[in-house]
Amino acid sequence: MIKQTIKRFVGQLLGQRKHGMQRIGKSQHGIDRRNVSRHAIKVCEVLQQHGYEAYIVGGAVRDLIVGLEPKDFDVATNATPEQIRPLFRRARIIGRRFQLVHVVFGQEIIETSTFRAPASQTQQTDDHGRILRDNEFGNHEQDAVRRDFTVNALYYNPTTEEVIDYHRGVEDLKHRVVRMIGDPQTRYREDPVRMLRAVRFAVKLNGTIDPQTRAPIAAMADLIENVPASRLFDEMLKLLTCGHAMDCLRQLRQDGLHQGLMPLLDVVLEQPGGEEFIELALDRTDHRVRAGKPVSPSFLFAALLWQQVDARCKQFVAKGEPYIQSLMSAADSVLDEQTEKLAIQKRFASDMREIWFMQPRFERRLPKSIWRMFEQPRFRAAVDFLQLRAAAGEFDSVLAQWWMDLANANDDTRAQMLEDLAKLPRDSTASASRSRSRTRRRHSTSKSSTSSGAHVSPTDTTD
Ligand code: ATP
Ligand code: MG
Repeated sequence: MIKQTIKRFVGQLLGQRKHGMQRIGKSQHGIDRRNVSRHAIKVCEVLQQHGYEAYIVGGAVRDLIVGLEPKDFDVATNATPEQIRPLFRRARIIGRRFQLVHVVFGQEIIETSTFRAPASQTQQTDDHGRILRDNEFGNHEQDAVRRDFTVNALYYNPTTEEVIDYHRGVEDLKHRVVRMIGDPQTRYREDPVRMLRAVRFAVKLNGTIDPQTRAPIAAMADLIENVPASRLFDEMLKLLTCGHAMDCLRQLRQDGLHQGLMPLLDVVLEQPGGEEFIELALDRTDHRVRAGKPVSPSFLFAALLWQQVDARCKQFVAKGEPYIQSLMSAADSVLDEQTEKLAIQKRFASDMREIWFMQPRFERRLPKSIWRMFEQPRFRAAVDFLQLRAAAGEFDSVLAQWWMDLANANDDTRAQMLEDLAKLPRDSTASASRSRSRTRRRHSTSKSSTSSGAHVSPTDTTD
């Protein structure tokens, strides 16, 4: 009895609310079945026809209820991966931290996972309590306890059109409150990435983090350092491409979570001009995301780190290094620093380098070198990046527009533009000043495999 009272008191103190399963009908949750992926419905139907429970779960249900378009659709079921796989023509088991099945329908992948068991003794954790491995299957109710926030623990059954809600998630969604399921401190310790997720969902829902869910964040922010860099990268990418990136970054800074994520983010945001550039980049990204257009992670990270690369490059140039070499060294050192904390995957890093290294080549419009630039796979991204620099006042906007027109042109128009360019006096094909020409001549003997235009710096032009 006393034990029960203490338990209830502690529960209240920790903000845990009484749960109980609720079945919420269509008139209350308002999900229009027509907005649900037909492939996700199909996966649920096939599983149900074979006698399993199956629901659409997580972000999709949350987004559908608040009227946002879901990014993707996940399914949760009591069938095991081995039972799920043979039911679909194209399905593969993915062995990550949790085993799950990818059911593939053309371009769309429905991530289908088996209900998980609660945190148990068999789980392996690190010294800080972070879960390293667990793959125990559980029942529906247990699965709901394992999810992070009440608004993410909603299960939609497309057959009955009911939402199953164990943690009053629909109510929280109505108030746009992000509330942790269970004791926030324990859940952050198990997986510190949940702190970032709390911020992202609050911003995305245009809501707030429940005070008890928010309270431990500032003191526990350091735990982010224990998260493997690749996991941090994935979560950071989700945050930056959620359509409200700048608001998220502001919120992260306010919660003391920006440090240790991108070691330079703080410095960059405080640099004169740095914030403006990043704001512009993120603003454009947000617009693209909201318009349903794809966003390239390489472009995004190239933009976030550009000011840092540029500043470091200037330092090398001041020491007498040739420009292109300085740019390469600056890119290497910035990427090395970032990779320690935020594993920017190799393919993204090489794209970022291409985008950066092409920037000086936009300074001179030499028809021969332009043809070579076209062949670079990142040419289009580099031209987009140039627009960003022009918008930030870092590059001549008329010239930036010319490159944009060229990139957008069909073959005939492009050939005509280059023909017109060839007719111009040589001096007017470059935005370079005489001082830059001098720089170029001075370095033209230095070893470099890049084409001639690449020796010219967009930054060392000031006399
Ligand atoms: P988004 O719209 O950004 O994809 P989401 O809620 O779908 O948001 P995902 O990262 O795709 O987020 O995760 C899917 C679901 O898996 C979540 O809704 C949540 O229920 C659960 N989940 C994901 N990450 C965690 C975590 N770190 N801890 C607990 N549950 C999680
Ligand atoms: Mg999702």
